[in-house]
Amino acid sequence: MSTDPAPELLTALDAWRDLPAAQQPTWPAGSGIEEAVATLRSMPPLVFAGECDQLTDRLAAAGRGDAFVLQGGDCAETFAYATADNIRDRVKTLLQMAAVLTYGASVPVVKIGRMAGQYTKPRSSDVETRGDVTLPAYRGDMVNDFDFTEEARRPDPHRMVRGYHASAATLNLVRAFTTGGFADLRHVHAWNRGFSANAEYSRYESMARDIDKAMRFMLACGADFDAMRAVEFYASHEALLLEYERALTRIDHRTGAAYDTSGHMVWVGERTRQLDGAHLDFVATIRNPVGVKLGPSVTGDEVMRLVDRVDPQRRPGRLTFITRMGAGTIREALPPIVERVRSEGVVVTWVSDPMHGNTHTSSGGYKTRDFDDVVEEVRGFFAVHHDLGTVPGGIHVELTGNDVTECTGGSSRIHETDLASRYETVCDPRLNHQQSLELAFLVAEMLAERS
Ligand code: PEP
Ligand code: MN
Repeated sequence: MSTDPAPELLTALDAWRDLPAAQQPTWPAGSGIEEAVATLRSMPPLVFAGECDQLTDRLAAAGRGDAFVLQGGDCAETFAYATADNIRDRVKTLLQMAAVLTYGASVPVVKIGRMAGQYTKPRSSDVETRGDVTLPAYRGDMVNDFDFTEEARRPDPHRMVRGYHASAATLNLVRAFTTGGFADLRHVHAWNRGFSANAEYSRYESMARDIDKAMRFMLACGADFDAMRAVEFYASHEALLLEYERALTRIDHRTGAAYDTSGHMVWVGERTRQLDGAHLDFVATIRNPVGVKLGPSVTGDEVMRLVDRVDPQRRPGRLTFITRMGAGTIREALPPIVERVRSEGVVVTWVSDPMHGNTHTSSGGYKTRDFDDVVEEVRGFFAVHHDLGTVPGGIHVELTGNDVTECTGGSSRIHETDLASRYETVCDPRLNHQQSLELAFLVAEMLAERS
């Protein structure tokens, strides 16, 4: 039997419109925002309510230590890079990382792409100046184009519709890859053997060999690898552009609850999590699992007010705090926050984003991150949770399956002077394929030490 949406719910879904909304584009007059929104409202959902609920359960398991979250993908997806090869290589990288992490953690890994919707970006300034030209800042492909011309940078609401189609095509391919045999653990493991066989990564050989043994043991015991050819894979992005998120929000007629069907999980960023702001108000009305980024300046009181705002019913798996403190700061900044949440008896899932607190500009002018800082922040995250007896529930990373040179360091020793050779991101620097796998092996070691 279908349930009609409660009128209060419909009012609540639009209450954000009366609140200050940070980081929204200014659409030029006559650019057709109403038409674009109407088109989006008529489109099918990208994900289903039942899948979102399942992810909530998986995140709850991660919050208890019965699973581990791997969330990763581009800082900003672009329409031009949403090609079959790029999507395949990103999924492949995440699957390879997940296999290694599963071994280290001895629990299932919850695989969540920063994919199929990560098309909008918060910016530190509304404008960008190059020489004597000042234009609107690039806000992600769903808003404007990266090219530095007046026409490209003009916000165009029809790009939201393009973003929807690019997300649908991406998700379609991701679903095919993750259920059609590509994700077969035997292939994934063979790819990982290829990685660790490379002399540069020989220190990971012994773990790769241990995984090999474990696989042969499973086979000998009669484990059905054919039944494990399909994996669960979820899509997530920052819920930044509220017109887009609202237009894809649908009432589930099974339960009468609202779901943002643009992705399974959405998160609110460090720059838009104002307690009285539009973003938190919006995510409070949807039933999806929700993430909130926490930077080093957040206070215990603020965190408890975030909990009350987003998860008043205290549903495990509903709220994930994604901490991005900085390698040099996390060991001081994180404990009081975790301690406060724990002392209030609240259950959240803690995930480490070791990227956003560790960004700096190279001597050559590139926005970069050093691999060692990324690893050090994850180490700090594990150490804090270990000391407090709480659960480090996962990692959230910006990565690509391509061999870019955007972050320095790692065993393949990318130097600042190498950054220019393949710097392709339109926003933040990503770990490349090898750096991502190396991180997975290191985090697997950290997990294994603690289990
Ligand atoms: C991001 O995830 O790309 C981002 C902008 O992060 P944060 O909100 O943590 O700064
Ligand atoms: Mn980013």
